[in-house]
Amino acid sequence: MPPTQLQAARNGVVTEAMRRVADRENRDPAFVREQVAEGQAVIPSNRNHDALDPMIIGREFATKVNANIGNSETTSDRETELEKLHAAIHYGADTVMDLGTGSALDEIREMHVEHSPVPIGTVPLYEAVTQAGSPDAITKELLLEIVEKQAEQGVDYMTIHAGILAEHLPLTDGRKTGIVSRGGSIVAKWMEANGEQNPLYQVFPEICEIFADHDVTVSLGDSLRPGCLADACDEAQYAELDTLGELTRVGWDHGVQVMVEGPGHVPMHKIAENVERQQEVCDGAPFYVLGPLVTDIAPGYDHITSAIGAAMAAQAGAAMLCYVTPKEHLGLPEAEDVRDGLAAYRIAAHAADVGTERPGARDWDDALSEARYAFDWREQFRLALDPDRARSFHDQTLPGDNYKEARFCSMCGAEFCSMRIDQDTREEGEMDRLEPATDLAESPAADVNLPPVGTHDSGVRSPLDDVDVSPVEPAEDD
Ligand code: SF4
Repeated sequence: MPPTQLQAARNGVVTEAMRRVADRENRDPAFVREQVAEGQAVIPSNRNHDALDPMIIGREFATKVNANIGNSETTSDRETELEKLHAAIHYGADTVMDLGTGSALDEIREMHVEHSPVPIGTVPLYEAVTQAGSPDAITKELLLEIVEKQAEQGVDYMTIHAGILAEHLPLTDGRKTGIVSRGGSIVAKWMEANGEQNPLYQVFPEICEIFADHDVTVSLGDSLRPGCLADACDEAQYAELDTLGELTRVGWDHGVQVMVEGPGHVPMHKIAENVERQQEVCDGAPFYVLGPLVTDIAPGYDHITSAIGAAMAAQAGAAMLCYVTPKEHLGLPEAEDVRDGLAAYRIAAHAADVGTERPGARDWDDALSEARYAFDWREQFRLALDPDRARSFHDQTLPGDNYKEARFCSMCGAEFCSMRIDQDTREEGEMDRLEPATDLAESPAADVNLPPVGTHDSGVRSPLDDVDVSPVEPAEDD
């Protein structure tokens, strides 16, 4: 069996994937190899994922963003799932998790892997529940069978809820919202019904063997993440984190790349504490955080409440941010929700990269600011995180082409445009004229931190360009 990225790195080998990642991040390939060898970064890259353009997740690299898609038993179909994948990649997702629990799971997963240039992640436990019929009917054999099948299908990373143990369950008794992780609630129900330790914990070494065979990265699920501010940083959450640290080392011993998932809902003053504790307990394995939401009061706006927490977590050392859409807590996101969630999270990731002074990260801001000051509206739209939205908002009030040359917009109007007044004052008086000075072509920033965001335009032809979105024939098992 060929070595995993981790095994190759430990052997001193710089793989093709490491070279590609180094190029995209503007880093030395030897540094990439070193980070992977030490478990400080992962390159999720299943050997069976032919369309993959490799990327890296680690605190020393540009902050990454994951988008969750996937159907549920009540809504979404194949065509919609492909549209969501397309939207996620188009709006800058660095990885996509297929969390489907509805029908045609194999067909949709294979379609996602086939068409995706970004790593695909899954939660095999969900399919186990679908097949077994209920959480307590799952068997260890079924779990291993599903993990192996998904690994063969080309899934690049899988969330494994192995860290929640029977002895942790009583620690959740005083919580306000109990166990809110889907996987966590399923495993807890199984343990209560079967009177046994977590089956994923029991078979974790076997799962690692399968992962090593296909180079699947393990993403250790945080089953006991807090579901509200009141439950943040409690004994249950941190007891599970200790187990995740233990499992991190088990994964590494098997030559498997490991990242660790984190909360959830956390007040602003406790976010850095969460990140620092994970980094210490898990020996620096990349931290992959969901949000966290910094307040519980805003259903309908949780892409904002969570993007605030995500930016703070990334500044404190989190390596990848799992997006949250405006539909969080309310319903299954659709393509427009994917767009809004990704915009919020690309902003969080970029803001953190600027805040941690990654080389060249602010160049994009500087280029856009210079275009803005120069009233170069077309360039301002082109550089915008979401060019279509920037242009359409501008054109709502000033649609004519002549307004693309205007030295004002409808916000302050021609008379009160401060930038026009400033320019005129500099023309007429003693102050210096201000000239643009940023050349993005020369920027040392990672390509995920330069416009256009994401990988959809990274120079690698995406299979999505050829995608046929006509309805797929129903599978035989439908
Ligand atoms: S009118 Fe106001 S918002 Fe519009 S360009 Fe001028 S200063 Fe900026």
